[in-house]
Formats: sequence, C-alpha cells, structure tokens
Amino acid sequence: RTGFPALLDGRRSESTLPDVAERTLVAVKPDGVQRRLVGQIIQRFEQRGFKLVGMKMLQASEDLLSQHYSELRTKAFYPSLLQYMTSGPVVVMVWEGHNVVQTSRTMVGPTNPVEARAGTVRGDFSTHVSRNVVHASDSPEGARREIQLWFQGQELVQWDCCDQHCLRG
Ligand code: ADP
Repeated sequence: RTGFPALLDGRRSESTLPDVAERTLVAVKPDGVQRRLVGQIIQRFEQRGFKLVGMKMLQASEDLLSQHYSELRTKAFYPSLLQYMTSGPVVVMVWEGHNVVQTSRTMVGPTNPVEARAGTVRGDFSTHVSRNVVHASDSPEGARREIQLWFQGQELVQWDCCDQHCLRG
C-alpha cells in the first residue's frame, strides 16, 4: 500500500521512519511567566504537532544567561537584557519534531514585536522588543548549544507519540 493510509498502519516499523528528531529550545521569559502565558504557549507547540521532551521552571543565573546570550555581550541593551531575564523565573522547554527550529521561529515571530504578525506569539502577546515573552533557538547548531547549556542529558525524555506517523511526510 502507498500513500497516507500506509502511514497510519501500526505495523510500519520504527526503523523505516526518517530521522527527523530535530530539537529546539523554547523559553517563556519572565514577562511571559508573570502574565500567565505559559499554558497558551505550550498549547501552540502541542497543537502544531511538536513533542515536548523536556521542561522545567527555574530562576536563571547571570552566569547561565551570559553564556546563553554570549553573542550579544557587546550590545548596548545587554545589561538590561540580563536584568530582565533574571527578574523572575523562566520556563524552558525542549521541543522535538520535523523542522522544529525554523517552524518555532515562525510561530514566535520576529524579535521586535512591531514586526510580528498577529498569530505569532510575539504578535499576539507583546508590544516591546525588551519584553518579547518568549525565546526560540535560531538554528539547529544554536539549538544544540542551548539545550546542552540549559538541560542535563537525563532531564530529556525519549517517548513515542502515538500520532507520529500522521505528523511526518
Ligand atoms: P531573538 O530572541 O529573536 O533570537 P536576539 O537573539 O537578537 O533575538 O536578541 C535576544 C533578545 O535580546 C531578544 O529576544 C530581546 O529580548 C533582546 N533584545 C534584542 N534586541 C533588543 C533591543 N534593541 N532592545 C532591547 N532588547 C533587545
């Protein structure tokens, strides 16, 4: 059999599936946590078809954030960025799925909410670049680096979604 129904065939073996286990780091920033947006943000990623493989809430240290934002160290807004990001707890998550890095960036919207369309997280929930609610890794390499920075290996959970055959091409 060919076509989509074959993908629904429970007998299709796991080993025939393409390797699409791309992962990205998404974080609800302190403003998003304070505004009780965590649930709505998680819902968008679940609804899109991504798989949650790690999640925790923490108060990020300056040390961790200076590594996370090392490329921005010379920017004028860097001190206020660290102040903002340490102003309260964050919820960090690792999401897995086909093209999850790029799709997450599209879902989150541009850095400056002025440019973010309605329907994106930033376009729906924020107005200012310095309070833009959410972070998502900007490349697969960046995602790998950030996931290693924020999570220990044993904090990530491998599990099979019963709907994974419907979500892949
Ligand atoms: P993104 O988060 O979209 O990947 P960047 O990596 O360029 O964007 O910036 C990291 C974060 O720094 C932004 O999400 C935002 O919180 C903050 N930031 C970026 N540019 C500015 C700015 N001009 N003024 C204040 N904060 C900024």
